Formats: sequence, structure tokens, C-alpha cells
Amino acid sequence: MNTQYQTIIIGGGLSGLTVAHNLLQQAPKHRFLVLEKSGRTGGAIKTHHDGGYITEIGPHGFLDNCRQSKQLLKDTGLDEECVKAPLIDFVRYVYLRDKLNLIPQTPGKILLAPIVSWPAKLRVLAEFWQPVLKGEPTVAKWVSHRFGPALLPFIDAIYTGTYAGDYDRLTIDSVMPGIRALEKEHGSVLRGLLKKTLQRKKGAKEKTTLRMPAMTSFPSGMQRLSDRLAENLSHGENLFTETCVTALHHSKNRWQIHTNKKSYQVKNIVLALPVNEALRLLSSVCDDIPQKAIPQARIATVVSGFKNSVALPPGFGFLTPEAEKRFCLGALFSSNMFPGRAPEGHIVFETLVGGRRHPERLDLDDQSLTRLALKDVQQILNIREKPTYTTVLRSKSGIPQLEQHFPALLKWKKKSETKHKGLHICGFGWGGIGINDMIKDGTEVAVSITTPAPTEGSGPEIKGVYF
Ligand SMILES: Cc1cc2nc3c(=O)[nH]c(=O)nc-3n(C[C@H](O)[C@H](O)[C@H](O)COP(=O)(O)OP(=O)(O)OC[C@H]3O[C@@H](n4cnc5c(N)ncnc54)[C@H](O)[C@@H]3O)c2cc1C
Repeated sequence: MNTQYQTIIIGGGLSGLTVAHNLLQQAPKHRFLVLEKSGRTGGAIKTHHDGGYITEIGPHGFLDNCRQSKQLLKDTGLDEECVKAPLIDFVRYVYLRDKLNLIPQTPGKILLAPIVSWPAKLRVLAEFWQPVLKGEPTVAKWVSHRFGPALLPFIDAIYTGTYAGDYDRLTIDSVMPGIRALEKEHGSVLRGLLKKTLQRKKGAKEKTTLRMPAMTSFPSGMQRLSDRLAENLSHGENLFTETCVTALHHSKNRWQIHTNKKSYQVKNIVLALPVNEALRLLSSVCDDIPQKAIPQARIATVVSGFKNSVALPPGFGFLTPEAEKRFCLGALFSSNMFPGRAPEGHIVFETLVGGRRHPERLDLDDQSLTRLALKDVQQILNIREKPTYTTVLRSKSGIPQLEQHFPALLKWKKKSETKHKGLHICGFGWGGIGINDMIKDGTEVAVSITTPAPTEGSGPEIKGVYF
């Protein structure tokens, strides 16, 4: 039994790498080890390079509006390298009623836009007087109740674009706990937001203007982020790949960690894993887990390259609400977003397929998937030319779906971390599903290891909603 480490981090994806990075920054003498099941670090983050095309198997980017992510970029020097596409300049579209509709970027412009009728706009204002729905309503039910059904296609697009999810199953308490808390506290989301804005303005020393964030990536793709974080770790010293944690035991304030290679005994463990993997490992330690597993959604990406005589609409891309009955979930105009994504004289876009509602489409072979995705997207974008390049990318990672009973699982997580000394849980799904969520939680876990005094919780975060 190896006892030389103080902390073992299970999982070498972005969450585990963030915890490791922060331990190195805050407590350079802290002896930790990252154990990673596969032969590589980065987990869901994986960039695909082929024939001059740079495309993503996992995440395409993250918004530059998270304090902890900005700090991490600064610490690693990645802030000098990153490429940004500001949301204010890069428009997005929702496919509705047989055409792409541009989504206005600012709240004022959204209110004036013709895609929502005037009666529907007035119905949004009626939110001030809507009673608070009890229980755990789905996102669709909650939005329809508070703001009216006209907003549903846009909300569907948002949750397709982020969770590849189904807004008839995702619950508002799980995906927007901050907004739900605001609604409960003030009796209305709009009233709560207004009060918060006024308070902020009163408290601010200088006049602050609302800034739209920018989508961020790197010239060689998103994998640069995880590769850079892994550069500070040494294989065989504080990082072991191809090392799968198979079982955990906790007794007398020590953790025993069994892997396919060795066993370890430590004071602290960090489960930097997707929710289901963490639940599986914890099942031998905790007998009160409220749920064995949560649903996941997988997507495949059909990459298509064309000669640059084919013009893409300006902006990031589009999303298709389910009611439009299209084959694809949407497409990302990759060569518009970031420079150098396609070889000279070419453009590239990535079409997303599958998600929570259509897992059966992922059973198609590459040829059929490409044919059906291209047919769909070429019709939407009115492209007649043949592609010069296609490939299908299939992420092995599922996107955790925060559906019914997820808040109970979060409560159980918090309780278990208090009950089992030295247990720290972060990772894909727990505090959200995006890159910024992972960096925020991973940073907080490192702080709680190096500064074990209990920190005051600030309540659920109110996150911005972007297409
Ligand atoms: C297709 C897709 C698209 C996405 N797009 C975006 C996007 O555009 N923007 C955005 O912000 N986010 C996006 N995300 C989410 C983002 O990728 C995740 O938030 C993030 O990568 C999760 O990191 P993680 O380290 O928590 O989990 P993972 O990346 O899943 O890492 C967990 C690691 O743990 C390892 N592991 C598992 N079990 C064990 C074990 N028993 N022992 C040892 N190691 C183990 C795994 O091999 C893996 O390396 C996307 C995700 C997917 C799947």
C-alpha cells in the first residue's frame, strides 16, 4: 500500500487537471497524484487534426466570463494564445418555419425583434404576476408558465445547444438553480433580476456596462487547454495514465484506493469524474445514494469541408428546435468562428446529430450518418456543391442530463462530503456541464484541500443564457 501522497485525484480530464493546477499554484509542497484510466489526459476534450482541418470531438469553446477560468488562462500563459469570437459580433440563428432566423444579441434588440409577436412580448411581461410553480417542473413547463409558449422554440434551441438535451425532461431546478432561487425569493424572475441590477448599480463605484462575453478557443483547438495543464505534471511522479481506479474504501479518516495496478492510502481523495462514474465508485462507501445513475446524451459530429466558393452565413451557426423535425441538431460554422480551421481555399462546418431525443441516429454507420446530415444541412443552408472533405467524429463521453431528482442527488453529494472526511467531488455534471463549471468547481476543490476551514457558500449562481 503506497502512503506517500496526501491527495489522490481520480480522473485526468479538465476537472482533475484544474485541481492539480491549483494545488501546484497554492501549495507547491502538497504531495498529490492524478490517476487517469485512459492513455491520455483531457477526457472529453479532444481536437481532431486531419488534412488541414481542425475540428472538435468534444467542446468547441467556452465563454470568457468566468473568473476562475480567466485566472487559469493567466497562470498558464494561455491568455496570450487564446483566440476569441465575441458573441456581439458573431450572430447565431434558430431554424424556424423553414428558415434561419437571426437571434438578436442584446435584451433590447430581442424585445424589438420581429421573430416574437407583440402579444407574445406582452405575455413575457406578465411573468411579473405568474405564481411560482411547485415541485420540480421541466424547463419547457416552467418557461411556458412564466413567459408564455412563444419562447419555447428558442429555449429548446438553447438546451439543444448546451446539453444536447430535451427540455421536456431537463428540470429548471437542476439546470438553472440560481434563476429558480431568484423566482422563489422575489415571486418573479424579472422582478428579482431588476432588483439585483438596481442593487448592483447602487453599490458600484463607477458606471458599469453589460458586456457580452466572447467564445474562446486556441489556434490548435481546445485540446491545447488540457495539454497545457498536463505539461506541469510528470508521468510516473504525479500523473499515472492507464491506471483505472476500481474500488474505494474509507476507514479511520483514511482512504484506500485500489487500481488495476497498485493500491494507495491517502487523507484526501478528489473524484474528478462524470456523475455516473463517481456514483459507481462511491457505491461501496455510501449506502444512501439516492440514484444509481443519471441519463446521458451523446452526439456525433459530421464534419464537412467545401471549397470557399461556398458561402456560409455570417456568425457561429444555427440550432434546430425539435418541433422543426430536422435530422440535425444544428451546425457550427467552424471556419467563421476561429481562423485556420480549414486548409487554404476551403471552409468547414460541423453538423451535430443525436442528443437525448435521438440516440438511435448514432447507431447509423458513418456513411449513412454523413449522407443524412449533409442532405439536411445542405438544404437548410442552400448549398448545392459537393463537399471536398467529410468525416464523422463520435465522442465517447456522454453529456450528463440534469433531470428530475438531480437536486436531491446534489444535496446527497454535499452531505456525503461532510460525512466522509477528505472526500471531494467535482466533475462533469455535478456543478454544471460546461468548461467554466469544471474550472470553477476544480478551483474550489483545491482551495478546500489547502484551506480546510469551511468557506461560506454563496448560493446558486445566476448564469447568463446564450445561444
Ligand atoms: C460532445 C461534447 C461537446 C461539448 N461541448 C462543450 C462546449 O462547446 N463548451 C463547453 O463549455 N463544454 C462542452 N462540453 C463539456 C466539457 O467537455 C466538459 O465539461 C468537460 O470536458 C468535463 O471534464 P471532466 O474532467 O469533469 O470530465 P471528463 O472529461 O469526462 O474527464 C474524466 C476523466 O476521468 C477518467 N476516468 C473515468 N473513470 C475513471 C476511473 N475509474 N479511474 C481513473 N480515471 C477515470 C476518464 O478517462 C476521463 O479522462 C462538451 C462535452 C461533450 C461530451
